[in-house]
Amino acid sequence: MSLNRRDLLRTSGAAAAAAAVVSPETADAATPLRFAHEADVVIVGAGAAGITAAIVAREAGASVIVLEAEPHAGGHAMCSGGNVPHGGGTSIQKKYGIVDSPDLLFRDLTDWSVVESNGAANYRYNDHEIIRAFADHSAPTFEFLLAHGVVFVDKAPDNLGGLSVGASIPREMHCAPVDWPLIQTGAPAPPAQRLTTSSGNGLMQPLIAAARKAGVQILLEHRMTALHRPGGGRVTGVAATNKGVHLDIGARKAVIVATGGSTGNVEFRRMFDPRLTEEYCGLAGMPWSNQDASGELAGMAVGAALWGLANHTGEFGWTITKAGRIGCQYGYTNTTWEPGSPVFDRARASGLRVADWQNLIMVNMIGNRFYDEAGPQFAANNSDSQKNYVQNSWRNANEKPYKPNNFLNAALAGIGDGHNGGGPIWAIFDADGAAREKWTCEPPYVDYAEGFFFSAPTIGELASKIVMKHQRVPMPPAALERTVARYNGFVDAGKDTDFDKAAPKYKIARGPFYAAWATPVVHDTRAGLRINGRCQVVDMGGKVIPGLYCGGETAGGFSQHGLARATCQGFIAGHEAVGATVKRA
Ligand SMILES: Cc1cc2nc3c(=O)[nH]c(=O)nc-3n(C[C@H](O)[C@H](O)[C@H](O)COP(=O)(O)OP(=O)(O)OC[C@H]3O[C@@H](n4cnc5c(N)ncnc54)[C@H](O)[C@@H]3O)c2cc1C
Repeated sequence: MSLNRRDLLRTSGAAAAAAAVVSPETADAATPLRFAHEADVVIVGAGAAGITAAIVAREAGASVIVLEAEPHAGGHAMCSGGNVPHGGGTSIQKKYGIVDSPDLLFRDLTDWSVVESNGAANYRYNDHEIIRAFADHSAPTFEFLLAHGVVFVDKAPDNLGGLSVGASIPREMHCAPVDWPLIQTGAPAPPAQRLTTSSGNGLMQPLIAAARKAGVQILLEHRMTALHRPGGGRVTGVAATNKGVHLDIGARKAVIVATGGSTGNVEFRRMFDPRLTEEYCGLAGMPWSNQDASGELAGMAVGAALWGLANHTGEFGWTITKAGRIGCQYGYTNTTWEPGSPVFDRARASGLRVADWQNLIMVNMIGNRFYDEAGPQFAANNSDSQKNYVQNSWRNANEKPYKPNNFLNAALAGIGDGHNGGGPIWAIFDADGAAREKWTCEPPYVDYAEGFFFSAPTIGELASKIVMKHQRVPMPPAALERTVARYNGFVDAGKDTDFDKAAPKYKIARGPFYAAWATPVVHDTRAGLRINGRCQVVDMGGKVIPGLYCGGETAGGFSQHGLARATCQGFIAGHEAVGATVKRA
């Protein structure tokens, strides 16, 4: 008896697992799928790229369905800082006398000569067609956001929150939260901050409202599991699950993948960096939404290529960050999940924000220090970050004396036991350190229940208490005692001869003693599916996959921290998917 591919999928356990990501691209084109829903354009992901694309396509006359895996729309964009680096001549730039143009923006974002002090290049590996499209559509995208209810803080563009946004002139603008409830707290921002601070709520809440008002159908708790590309032709829809039930959704014109990236998928991210093993479990933006590589995997299963992979391993920007809040799983420095947040039950603790790294030491899984705790993470290019900047000049590198900024590399180095990842990193401090920081070492600030925080009357007892799923080997109490005693000696001597921490100030001497989870946080995805300047997905043979578009962090070829590229590519993809003329600057 011979088995066809469908039989194999049905009968093999391994294949059944693979079916979660493998699309039925070879399904018999003569047996059409029964679609539970159908629209002209189906968009996967209700974040920055997806919602922007949805509004554009709907306003161009198409019917639009957006699938969103979470019980809420918004994606990482909703929990972001709302700093949006659009440029090329936005109305705010003009208002404040900042002269920018698409050409200037293009040259900034393709400048091979810009390097950080560790030698990493922000723009060298960007795809010029993709950057040209961004440069031409960035300002129109900004005006589109304004026209759809996004309120920007009324001040001159600056460089706050910008990573790899171009050195020539300031481009960061900031979304005001106005009166929208913040997902971090469950309540609106204090009145004094509603028009002056920056928040992703101020970007996404009005866009989601605009999408719904325009008639976009958003299907929450619908997770796309595969793309349909019958007979290797046009992409005709998606497979999804809703509360465990499978359904298929048809797309008469196009599918736009806007799933937000891959860094939350351990096996996928390890293709770029084998060190990023499972202990890096505090992805920035979680638990609000994940970046599970489902878009990349579904695209690859219908033939899509990946693109710009060098960008994802470049040691610049915040692809991996230091934990800025400790004692909780989700320690991204700029997000505090407070008890009123709709996802606090999943976050479990808000964390302790570190104001002064002198108040603690950091040790690895076996109780050893590994770097100056105050050491910086990787840097990224922005206006004012490059002295005497001249576009494309080899002299730019001379203005950056070599400094490796190796905190993260040391944290990820591991303990020499054959495991690729660095293992947990623990912040160790005492009662005096906690008092100086004004920390309350209790829930809801710290997470004792899941093993992200421990306390004990002595250092030795503290080490033996550290038991949790990522602590692969016990921390030897004698090792932690030795480390603390040695550090206290550095405080007496006023000099850290191991890691050159500037004048160590405080001994760790008065109990109770604490160990708080301080493991690095993974963040942006800077590589993904291959697209062209029209956001069409391209296959391994360099050919466009008909009916398939992609934008945002799931798209490759453009290395920049977030919201501008995501909204701009959503803007482009939304137009292209319905054949509408895209407005250029
Ligand atoms: C805490 C934080 C702060 C940030 N601050 C800034 C900032 O100030 N400025 C800036 O420029 N960038 C910032 N960023 C980055 C920025 O938010 C992202 O780059 C941007 O949101 C990416 O847009 P996207 O549309 O690609 O993904 P997202 O906005 O994350 O949207 C993707 C959506 O797809 C959904 N999804 C995923 N898989 C599926 C599936 N299989 N089926 C259905 N739905 C799915 C997700 O749940 C999510 O809602 C920040 C990010 C974080 C996490």
